[in-house]
Amino acid sequence: MPLKNTSNNDLEQPLILVVDDEKLMRLLLRRSLEDEGYRVAEASNGKEALAAYQQQKPDLVLLDAMMPVMDGFTCCQQLQALSGDAKTPVLMVTSLEGPEAVDRAFACGAADYITKPIHWAVLRQRVRRLLEASRAMENLRQLAVREQLLGAMSERIRQSLNLQEILKTTVNEVQQFLNADRVLIVRLNPDGSGVVVVESAAAEAKCTSKTAISYACFGKCYIDLYRKHRTGAIADTCSPRLIQCQAQELDRFGLEANLIVPILQEESLWGLLIASQSGKPRRWYNGEIELVERLATQVAIAIKQAKLYEQLKQANRELHRVASLDGLTGVANRRCFDEYLHREWRRMTREEKPLSLILFDIDYFKLYNDTYGHLAGDACLQKIAAAVGATVKRPADLVARYGGEEFVAILPDTEIAAAGYVAELIQAAVKALAIPHYRSSISDRVTLSIGVATTVPTGEVLPSMLVAAADQALYQAKAAGRDRICYSPSLYKTF
Ligand code: GH3
Ligand code: MG
Ligand code: MG
Repeated sequence: MPLKNTSNNDLEQPLILVVDDEKLMRLLLRRSLEDEGYRVAEASNGKEALAAYQQQKPDLVLLDAMMPVMDGFTCCQQLQALSGDAKTPVLMVTSLEGPEAVDRAFACGAADYITKPIHWAVLRQRVRRLLEASRAMENLRQLAVREQLLGAMSERIRQSLNLQEILKTTVNEVQQFLNADRVLIVRLNPDGSGVVVVESAAAEAKCTSKTAISYACFGKCYIDLYRKHRTGAIADTCSPRLIQCQAQELDRFGLEANLIVPILQEESLWGLLIASQSGKPRRWYNGEIELVERLATQVAIAIKQAKLYEQLKQANRELHRVASLDGLTGVANRRCFDEYLHREWRRMTREEKPLSLILFDIDYFKLYNDTYGHLAGDACLQKIAAAVGATVKRPADLVARYGGEEFVAILPDTEIAAAGYVAELIQAAVKALAIPHYRSSISDRVTLSIGVATTVPTGEVLPSMLVAAADQALYQAKAAGRDRICYSPSLYKTF
């Protein structure tokens, strides 16, 4: 099964760069080192060595001190500058006996030296010891970097609820840490296809951008293993353990090596964190795999946290909505009306636009209750609220139960004539309900008395004054015989 540590075995062997101007010497060194199982690259002078070093990233350099073009000491010095934090050990080979050459070798940054003629057993010992020490150092260095990355990521998750930002920073950091061509997070669909959510690519690598990618083969063959938290590490497309369609899949994306780590949410597979390398094989070290796995766990935590936060926001919205509604009629309640009126008052003040209120009250509703019973009264209120709610429907309009059998509509950016038209629609809608009310002294159906007031809000007028004006108009409608619409004259004059 080509999962975890499937990297080509040959790639796992340390690579030693042998630098010597004598062809025979290089041949002898190569034989001896290859007998020990190492991989060997060659260069015949310091300049070539620098180029080979950059291209092949050897684990150790065996460097002859005396060479034409560029000698070993100069080369060693320049190698130190090139190798950065991850110091590659240099074993200097010198035919010059005596303390000067040795001192010079160490001064240039060599880790150790041996002398020509070579004592082969000594060479083997030194090479092994240097590789072990260098590997231990590198492991420690990587461990420190990994811990730092993980620490930074947990901190980010603690501090931010912005999932997209967390994911973006994660792929950037993984890409830099692995020095991979591309690192991406793919959200998987149930059918095994996926969409790239975030991506980080080395400057020279092409982004796959937001294209939906279908991991047809990966999906089919490995989804069950990813679900079980297994990681896929593919060192190169020539790996004998790759099945054909998997190799084709990698080829399709121009990839050579691939590290795929599942991102799980409880029992289900949310997506994949993928690091990939184009063009050349790449061994994925256990330390690298482990870091990416731990980061994927952190990503899963961030996703879970973002999901919970989204649910919390939704619950709060729902709570707010429920707290804003009148329990009997389902229209906005008085508290919501007060908040909304103040908000729209401020907005209309800023925009210098008129704000209208329609306050309406059921005529002889006490008698209605007395005649038909309180439950029928409740049903009547519900029907009227629904009919009015369906009549007043511009997005900024709000119908609320003002109290008892009294309702109110707030109509922002609405002049008195338009508000009057809406009041007539409300009156007609309630008439159309044709709710019998045989003891009403003005009609055999339920009717409304309606007061309308409009103003262009300013800093000098209070919202309560507009409510009072509408109430005054409603009182007039009642006094004038009910089942009618009256307008507040005072505020009408203000614009
Ligand atoms: P007017 O035409 O002057 O408005 O007379 P009215 O009888 O409608 O007015 P009044 O204020 O005297 O009576 C209001 C009635 O509305 C009394 C109250 O029982 C009834 N009422 C208020 N809230 C509810 C409610 O939630 N359900 C029911 N069934 N009745 C309610
Ligand atoms: Mg009434
Ligand atoms: Mg009343």
